[in-house]
Amino acid sequence: MADISKVRAKIEELRRLIRRHDYLYYVLDRPEVSDAEYDKLYQELKRLEEAHPDLITPDSPTQRVGGQPVEGFAQVQHKVAMLSLDNAYSADEVREFEARIKRALPGERFTYVAEAKVDGLSVALLYEQGRLVRGATRGDGRTGEDVTLNLMKVRSIPHRLDGPLAKFNVLEVRGEVFMWRQGFERLKRKLEEEGEEPFANPRNAAAGPVRPKDPQITAARPLDIFVYGVSHAEPDPFTSHYQAMHQLHESGFRIHSKGEKNMLERYRRRCGDIEAAIEACREVEEARDKLGCDCDGVVLKVDSIEQERRLGSTTHHPRWAIAYKFPAQQATTIIKKIEISVGRTGALTPTAELEPVEIAGATISRATLHNADEIERLDVREGDTVLIERAGDVIPHILQVVTEKRRPRTKPFSFPNRCPVCGAEAFRPEGEVVSRCTNSACPARLKQSLLHFGSRRAMDIEHLGDAVVEQLVDRSLVKEFADLYGLDVKTLADLERLAEKSATNLSRAIQGSKRQGLGRLLFALGIRYVGEHVAAILAQHYGSMDRLEKAPEEELAEIYGIGPRIAQSVALYFRQPENRRQIEQLRKAGVKMREEGVTAGPRPLAGKIFVLTGGLEGFSRDEAKELIVRQGGRVTSSVSKKTDYVVVGKDPGSKDDDAKRLGVPTLDEAAFKKLIGKA
Ligand code: AMP
Ligand code: ZN
Repeated sequence: MADISKVRAKIEELRRLIRRHDYLYYVLDRPEVSDAEYDKLYQELKRLEEAHPDLITPDSPTQRVGGQPVEGFAQVQHKVAMLSLDNAYSADEVREFEARIKRALPGERFTYVAEAKVDGLSVALLYEQGRLVRGATRGDGRTGEDVTLNLMKVRSIPHRLDGPLAKFNVLEVRGEVFMWRQGFERLKRKLEEEGEEPFANPRNAAAGPVRPKDPQITAARPLDIFVYGVSHAEPDPFTSHYQAMHQLHESGFRIHSKGEKNMLERYRRRCGDIEAAIEACREVEEARDKLGCDCDGVVLKVDSIEQERRLGSTTHHPRWAIAYKFPAQQATTIIKKIEISVGRTGALTPTAELEPVEIAGATISRATLHNADEIERLDVREGDTVLIERAGDVIPHILQVVTEKRRPRTKPFSFPNRCPVCGAEAFRPEGEVVSRCTNSACPARLKQSLLHFGSRRAMDIEHLGDAVVEQLVDRSLVKEFADLYGLDVKTLADLERLAEKSATNLSRAIQGSKRQGLGRLLFALGIRYVGEHVAAILAQHYGSMDRLEKAPEEELAEIYGIGPRIAQSVALYFRQPENRRQIEQLRKAGVKMREEGVTAGPRPLAGKIFVLTGGLEGFSRDEAKELIVRQGGRVTSSVSKKTDYVVVGKDPGSKDDDAKRLGVPTLDEAAFKKLIGKA
């Protein structure tokens, strides 16, 4: 038997680590280890405590659910605790689970429901008489945070239930808010386009936005919910878990997966006995990569609610459910080299080039290292043996270095403080994780900028691919965007691997792109935080580059959908003489600087502040906003003395009363139409 003081020290160490990871995961939404790694720590602690029960203390992470609510949101006490789940890692452990419940309820038969264990953020939604009155996070399982406003922005969370559950006095629904991988990839591209830092994986991307102070951020994320339980119901007619879930779907909780009719069948199914349940686990595991979301296991639940009640829960988990966890998709391999690439915004991004290795059928030869901090945290060095993990289609990442296998005399990787391409100084602003090349004429940045400029959703220049851009920059034929428009067919045909015909096509595509209009042009310029959507708003609002260039920062910030951060970035961009000069060159080259269909004429609503309440018949909320903004007005969310008009539609909320109280004029739909010239 090991020296007891050593065991004690080990236990303390594990507890300390687990608490730290709990804090990172639940409170900061910035986990540093994979769930598999965390589970390993947890299991090891549990094993040690089981062997030395006298060392168990009430504050051990094994004795509670983990996490503390962050300050700032109102706290919510969960009437029914949001517990963890007990885990099984093999078919035999699942069978042991059944043996346990059979001992607890001798002679009874059990049927099961097998559900995907979707990896996101768990929430509790409280409905009263069918209306969503509160949404809360899990927090530490007993106390969570009130994030009602944010959850209301998740499209698939109904504000009102319809169907069988609408009349219930009280109904508390539990579910997992998550992001589809497709949506995650789209979001990632969008953030990159805007020069923002993308998230490492869908879980982080989903967990963060449930809790920002600004519900608009939640709204902008493609979030969905997978409901998995009813924790409280008045009246309480449910006899089967499966039936309860079915009714929830009937009442408005719908999975928003496009075109997949029997999607739900994949995520939740009934199993007649434990062997059928084990088979379901295997099937979901096999389909794991095709599920479209992050799923790290299958939860098996006893279907009979009445049996569930009699089985009850421990302080940590319900006894009537078990999570079958998939084996991690991990492997070890060697880092051949750490490569630094330079992006459009100058961001220096490290990638590990690996000795190719197979994980679950895919050959992996690269892994992301995110940034300098990550390299330092892991202390990865070239030549190291590392443990890597693959989750879904996202590029694999490194979990840890296998230090026992480290070769002698290796040095820590020193992150370059100069751009690896042009040699200019790399700058990392205080508080940011990314360092960037400071040379605006850096060839690497220029190449990426040109590729972005010509990309499909920007200026849409077909045939302007990597190989062409590479040569154009290396041969100094293009030093800025406008140079593209001076290229003739002959020059292009001189490029390697570009035949006469392709040169003609490319030239035609370049010249054709001049007519794209202001919106696409703004996006193409690659101004920080100006993605496709923001570019379109600016183009709609100003109609021409001239007017946008002159717009003061305060005015930009007032535009609906812009906000102070984007306004600052846009204003800063147009203050740089170099940027203005480049735009002037584009203008001279004949690039269109206007947006079609936007009147540059007088803006009759300039300076007027609107509040909208209730539903309009002729337009959606967004269309109404758009019309107001286009004519120079703006829309705010609450009525104050500064409000000029409150537009009152059908079933208006309290804003109508606010307007009357403050003496703000109200407009019905007809009057509104007249004002905006649509009557
Ligand atoms: P854990 O915290 O890993 O022990 O697992 C419990 C958590 O799994 C719950 O709090 C939920 O957030 C999550 N979860 C995901 N899918 C399901 C599901 N189908 N049933 C129950 N919990 C689920
Ligand atoms: Zn550079």
